[in-house]
Amino acid sequence: MLIKRNGSQASSIGPVENFSGHARRDPIHTAPEPSRLAAGQVTFDPAARTVWHTHPVGQLLIITSGCGRVGTWDGDIQEVKAGDTVWFEAGEKHWHGAGPDTAMSHIAVTEVVDGSAVDWLEPVSDDQYTTN
Ligand code: MN
Repeated sequence: MLIKRNGSQASSIGPVENFSGHARRDPIHTAPEPSRLAAGQVTFDPAARTVWHTHPVGQLLIITSGCGRVGTWDGDIQEVKAGDTVWFEAGEKHWHGAGPDTAMSHIAVTEVVDGSAVDWLEPVSDDQYTTN
């Protein structure tokens, strides 16, 4: 059994290569092998979002506060609110972030494959963020 105490893991700012706008990351847990589980909290200021990206075996988002948006490469954009969950399929190109005027926080749950849980791609343009 392993307990990680609140206050034992530092927050960090999402790097500009992977996030547009201000996003704060608070690690929750990266499990030791043979588990591949990795979970973290991300809090997006209004209009902040990830760049486009994929996950090798998918990703679960649990929206924990606020109102945000998620988008997929086919152009679909959905509003998400606290209590919603979102599943992205393995390799599905997508982004997630705040609403234009509202912050959003989620827990992201992924699995690490060959040392990586995410493949980062290009930024989400303002048109891609706002246009369905
Ligand atoms: Mn994702």
